[in-house]
Amino acid sequence: MSITPPEDRNAYPFKSWWETLGHLEHWTPPAEWEGSAFAIRRMFFERHRKTHNEGHWACPVCGYPTLGNRQGHDMCGVCQWECEGQDDPDADEVWGSGPNYGVSLTQARRNFEATRSMWPPEEAVRGGPHRFDALFSEAALASRNELCALFDGLMALESPQDIARQWQLIGVAGKRLP
Ligand SMILES: [Zn+2]
Repeated sequence: MSITPPEDRNAYPFKSWWETLGHLEHWTPPAEWEGSAFAIRRMFFERHRKTHNEGHWACPVCGYPTLGNRQGHDMCGVCQWECEGQDDPDADEVWGSGPNYGVSLTQARRNFEATRSMWPPEEAVRGGPHRFDALFSEAALASRNELCALFDGLMALESPQDIARQWQLIGVAGKRLP
């Protein structure tokens, strides 16, 4: 067993996102996700950031362009992942003191397949302190599905006018999220 020196660990997220940001347009999925809907979304929105994302970065969990930045603790409005720069190189790690409550990036991606959120299915019935009731209500699930469909629709658009109109719809749908 090896122990990473604490100073390296603390530095790593920062090194990670600075190094990664310049290369995200070349992002390719880890083996587990090759050919998946997540991989297709994320590849599209990484490669079309300047034309389709209205300045947003793709979320490393759901792949949709929801983040204002990749390093400032921005939270994804679709899946609720709070981004601190964690990405593929450290996807299996749980950043213990972080805001994602013990969920690794890999687990969050798997959860998203089941719940349209970073939380596992059992959280949907647990209720409790983290506003899970609101997140998993029928209305909330319908809103998230609608938002995802609008983002999926973006991938079929080409003209700047159509893309701008789609973002208006995304803005309206986003306001209905809990
Ligand atoms: Zn997300």
